[in-house]
Amino acid sequence: MAGDAPRLEVWLLDIAVPGPRGTENRAAVRAGARHALRAVCAACLGRPPDEVPLRHLCPSCGADDHGRPYLAGPDGLPHISLSHSGRRVAVALSDAPVGVDTERVRDDIDWSRMRALVLAPGEPEPGGREAWFNRWCLKEAVVKMTGDGLRLPMPLVRLEPGGPDGWLRARTPGASGWVRGLAAEDGWAAAVAVAAGAVPRTPRVHRRVAAAPGPFRNETTQQEVGR
Ligand SMILES: [Zn+2]
Repeated sequence: MAGDAPRLEVWLLDIAVPGPRGTENRAAVRAGARHALRAVCAACLGRPPDEVPLRHLCPSCGADDHGRPYLAGPDGLPHISLSHSGRRVAVALSDAPVGVDTERVRDDIDWSRMRALVLAPGEPEPGGREAWFNRWCLKEAVVKMTGDGLRLPMPLVRLEPGGPDGWLRARTPGASGWVRGLAAEDGWAAAVAVAAGAVPRTPRVHRRVAAAPGPFRNETTQQEVGR
């Protein structure tokens, strides 16, 4: 994949969950997020939602009923990533391993106590609450891209400027890639990371799931998976 700019598509969706903001039932949110992920994959691959070969694998315990989502099947199916915070869901699809994160910008975190948990030695401190959430999203997107998740301490994620179009070089002890913030509005932060040598294409951010077949439709893989 090195040398080839990977395709990248991102969805930022609001799911319907009963109750006022901040009181969302966790199980309902998780179910809604999975439903949204399946709908996005269905639209992208051009196949019915119940034919999307969506699986999960927990990197910590190995269980297949939770953890990192992936599409099971022949090579050529996109890598996927899912994040949710409250009723906001972020989904990313790419040719390369991808990680996405979204967080609601909240008041209840004392970031001054989080420095050692987030920042690498010498890393400039974010200025203000939104900047802290943005930094958190950048780093969490990277550890989701690598598959480590939050088992990898965030100070081991190093972000270096210099990429075009807002992309930052991201390095961990075992991997590297690209990460950038997403234009998330109204109190939400979001970021996407892609494990690729070449700078990914500028992510297209979708705010709804279109019914038309999407950019990752592939007749060959569709046939093989649909057998
Ligand atoms: Zn687990």
